[in-house]
Amino acid sequence: MTDISGLSADFFTLYKMKQERSLIMQNAKDLLNKGLILDNAKAYLTDPNMLNAAVHNSLKDSFGSYVCPDCGIEIKNKKWAMLHKKYHDAKREFKENEAKITKLRPYVE
Ligand SMILES: [Zn+2]
Repeated sequence: MTDISGLSADFFTLYKMKQERSLIMQNAKDLLNKGLILDNAKAYLTDPNMLNAAVHNSLKDSFGSYVCPDCGIEIKNKKWAMLHKKYHDAKREFKENEAKITKLRPYVE
């Protein structure tokens, strides 16, 4: 049995881990498929070690879930929620910059 971060490896824990794992994996797929995460953060959702860490963290800190006020997606991991927030921040910033550039150089193609 691998390290499960101090949790006792009884049946219930294993069952919970399995359930949590499938929720987390599905959540990662959703975020990736819908493109709701920045490219430089994708490793958090694809690297097997990072995914394992995410499952362990969500079992440990009972984060529950975060529902994004911008796009409504539900996120099961605290770190991912932060990464997803950065995605919206970056998008907003990009739009603002684009608007500024258009104002400054109206005839740019
Ligand atoms: Zn969102």
